[in-house]
Amino acid sequence: MIEKKLNRILQKIYSYENSELHRDKDFWTYSIPENLKKSEKELLAKSNFEINQIVHYSHDEVISKAKEIIETTPNLEKKVCNLFLHSLGKGFYRGIQPIFSYYFIKNLPAHKYEKFKISEQDYRANFCNICQIKNEEWDNKSENISDLYIGQARLGGYPDLLVDLEEIITFEDILADKEDIQIFKNLLDCIERAEDKETAPKLVKRISKEKILPNSNDVSRTWTIKCLAELGILKNPYQQDYSIMNSFYDFKTKNSWEEDIMNKVSTRLRIEMQFPYSAWRGALGINREFAEKIIENADVK
Ligand SMILES: [Zn+2]
Repeated sequence: MIEKKLNRILQKIYSYENSELHRDKDFWTYSIPENLKKSEKELLAKSNFEINQIVHYSHDEVISKAKEIIETTPNLEKKVCNLFLHSLGKGFYRGIQPIFSYYFIKNLPAHKYEKFKISEQDYRANFCNICQIKNEEWDNKSENISDLYIGQARLGGYPDLLVDLEEIITFEDILADKEDIQIFKNLLDCIERAEDKETAPKLVKRISKEKILPNSNDVSRTWTIKCLAELGILKNPYQQDYSIMNSFYDFKTKNSWEEDIMNKVSTRLRIEMQFPYSAWRGALGINREFAEKIIENADVK
């Protein structure tokens, strides 16, 4: 686990000013900035954290390794549900991603890579039709891990899901408590108070204003709500009872829903939108059954 002090140093390193793009393999590396304090440089050296761990991923390998973790780790579902509730209650940002990784990989059907048909210039050109994971790619694993500690999540098919699962199985169990569950329920009540036309980004702002999530920030609140939409707690009009907890939704279909939404909303709203987050409106409300399932799975004493 990355400790808070190290995480703060990493945030100073993983910024555009220190980055270099390696175009041939399409990944970024980072250099240590001059203005890092001596004590910070020392702490970084002592941590042995390698800031540019460049890894090659293949579609089949990512899936088989991630599936193996899901199938062989005892009590993993309980663990990810506890991490998620703990992220809500205590502002433990690293707890947002695992619940998505777990259910996405668990419900992902066995398949071979199928190239998404779109212009080669489009960023989606190498995505898999089914799971979105590219056939081959290089990435900076160290940066990907670090991003998960600032409240970002990867809610789709990315090698980061494997990176996430590989790391959390090394964590000592982080258990949610009754207070975390109460905060989750407060959040559900808050979402239910939405006006009919409220969009998800507006909901995120209201959660901040009403101070529902302790120690949260804009990034963590946004990704938390995006994750709730994937879990099916925020409903969407495209698929009744949508939830990654119960089913798998292929990339091609989700992308077609996303394009449908993008054709209907203003340009201003398109920024940072992502299905099913982009599909929610206050009038659709929430699914309490799925929320209850997370609480049950966490089995908080
Ligand atoms: Zn695939």
